[in-house]
Amino acid sequence: MASVLLLPDPTVLALLDVEVNEEAKIITATAKTTSKEAHCPVCGHAADRVHSRYVRTLADLPCSGQRVRWLVQVRRFWCENTACSRTIFTERLPVCAPAHARRTVQQAAVLCEVAFALGGKAGSRIARLLNMETSHDTLLRLMQRSEPPVVTAPRILGLDDFAWKKGHRWGTLLIDQETHKVVDVLPDREAETVTRWLVDHPGVEVISRDRAGAYADGARKGAPQAQQIADRFHLLVNLHSAMVRLFERKHEILKQVVTKEQAQNKGTASHCSEPDAQGKDEPKPLTPTEAQRQARHARRKNRYEEVIKLHEQGMSQAAIATLVGLNRNTVHSYIQAPEFLEQARSSRHKSKLDPYKDYLHQRFAEGQQNVTHLIAEIREQGCAREQYDRV
Ligand SMILES: [Zn+2]
Repeated sequence: MASVLLLPDPTVLALLDVEVNEEAKIITATAKTTSKEAHCPVCGHAADRVHSRYVRTLADLPCSGQRVRWLVQVRRFWCENTACSRTIFTERLPVCAPAHARRTVQQAAVLCEVAFALGGKAGSRIARLLNMETSHDTLLRLMQRSEPPVVTAPRILGLDDFAWKKGHRWGTLLIDQETHKVVDVLPDREAETVTRWLVDHPGVEVISRDRAGAYADGARKGAPQAQQIADRFHLLVNLHSAMVRLFERKHEILKQVVTKEQAQNKGTASHCSEPDAQGKDEPKPLTPTEAQRQARHARRKNRYEEVIKLHEQGMSQAAIATLVGLNRNTVHSYIQAPEFLEQARSSRHKSKLDPYKDYLHQRFAEGQQNVTHLIAEIREQGCAREQYDRV
């Protein structure tokens, strides 16, 4: 009875022998097929004339911390159906292991779960600890071969974009907002793709999305019955951006208010000595761009000082990065710098056409607005082809 329990498929296999190698921690079990006939995989014809035998090696789930390996004797049969294109075939073990597989169905299922949970490399490390050593490539192959789950439309659908490659290619993540699970992934963030998905998966009642126009269009066309709402995250992000812009615009006014309050607190004397109180020397109001630049500079400096303070308190760079919300490389560069470094202001983009700018303006004003002619003219003056190709 115990031997039957060991078999991956007792209906077609008989256990012949079990050998335990305690040193290598491997259990090797030998079995053979018991059916009298097999069916040709091409024509389905039953065959009982054996051509030859060979041994398949299959890795199985571990037992008591020891690896389990099956040596299964299988047979090749003659297909006697004259109309069949196959002459010889190997009997199949559908419940035990698919054709050409080197592991049992049970082990493949467990490894596939590990791969989905942890990915290739981490999954490979855990599989080795579980005595099912396998490469990360094999785990990825198992994932690719697995049946994709059946996608059903959730009642409340969340739409958001993500980067396949940041700044280059974007996809769309579809989330069931009630279970907080990913429902599907779309290859891009185009309105047509969203529309197509919603048409193929009817039943969505509420669509939570950011304020991008493409998702609004896609949702309107694909699920006109669904109510569209802005998700909380993007509302907060928008509020945050609006507040930052407001404070940047009003930075100078806020600074003046603080300065005045400080002066009032110091008393009349200091108030009188305030140089920019009401006199002619009152500084000119900053332009919005300049105010934003100053605000950004102040934020950078505050962050720098915070990083240095935490570093002096003995905190690790990784912990500082998490706490301050900066990249670890930025934290590292702050700590390495002898003092707060002003960010280099980007100079205006220099064009290789700059030497010809006055001439081009003049010719344009004279009425020559044909680009081909203008290029020909500056080429005569020595402008190399690659110069205007690059600009
Ligand atoms: Zn056949």
